[in-house]
Amino acid sequence: MCYMTRDFNSKTRSLRGFIAHIEESVHFVAGEGGGKFPASNSFLLTGSENVLIDAGIGLERLAEVDRIHRIDVLVITHSHPDHIRHGYYLADRHLLMPRETPESVSDLVMLGERFMGSRQAGCEWAKFVSEEFGVRALRLPDQRFKAGDVLEIGGARLEAIHAPGHLNDHYCFLEHNSGTLITTDIDLTSFGPWCGNPESDLELFKDSILRIMSLDRRRLCSSHKAPITGAGHEWFEKFLEAFERQKKLILDLCVAPATLDELALRSPFYRNTLKYKNVQFLFERQMISKHLSVLCKEGLVAEKNGYYYRVEGKAF
Ligand SMILES: [Zn+2]
Repeated sequence: MCYMTRDFNSKTRSLRGFIAHIEESVHFVAGEGGGKFPASNSFLLTGSENVLIDAGIGLERLAEVDRIHRIDVLVITHSHPDHIRHGYYLADRHLLMPRETPESVSDLVMLGERFMGSRQAGCEWAKFVSEEFGVRALRLPDQRFKAGDVLEIGGARLEAIHAPGHLNDHYCFLEHNSGTLITTDIDLTSFGPWCGNPESDLELFKDSILRIMSLDRRRLCSSHKAPITGAGHEWFEKFLEAFERQKKLILDLCVAPATLDELALRSPFYRNTLKYKNVQFLFERQMISKHLSVLCKEGLVAEKNGYYYRVEGKAF
């Protein structure tokens, strides 16, 4: 244990310390800015080799963790920019990625195209994440993992659990020695589920959550929140409720007929807080579109000539 490492529950935990020992070989590494986007938390596994899960804590923190613990292996949970962000800093280390991660992870414009749905929007996205957040593409991995693999690395037994819906290559992990369930972007924050990419799928996301929350664990660690001691069942319940809250938000917007573009311009999710308005517009559009397709399937909203409107007399 070094001066930067603190027991997570210890009252002596330094306010400046961002690495907290959890149990066994597992450490929580808080991302800058409270782990909020564009940062994310990391998890450090220490043993005969040191392993870092995700690379979005911020460049200074990443350099500090590496200075103290010399990272041997970087594990990427999925290819979102807040998770791959500064992975290039560890480019000469062993790199593990999900089997499902496409090669576009090694080209920022191609990655943008995957996330935004067109080449042009992909270019804008790439400019946005590189200029604003310092994101760079990763190199291709040395090794891939898949659902059910148990990675015996860093003194840990890390079971890979595929959790699509948020993104096709989204993974959670159960660390068996400490009972730590890493829920990644089932992030248990009040924002709720993020489904802003073409490949995101609300129903699939829900199924993944139900599967993950059924696993035995002693604590929860998400990518954007401080660790939660205990099974934390209620956090999953709250997160699941947010699907309904988001859906209701979109339903209420359809009280007067509106096109998808008009709805996106109203920015119900981001409330016009993103700097690059076109990126914000496309995120909004995609998330609204996912909810509209559920609402139409349930008969709560109908579409005519590109206009969406609430169906009278249908209770939510
Ligand atoms: Zn993500």
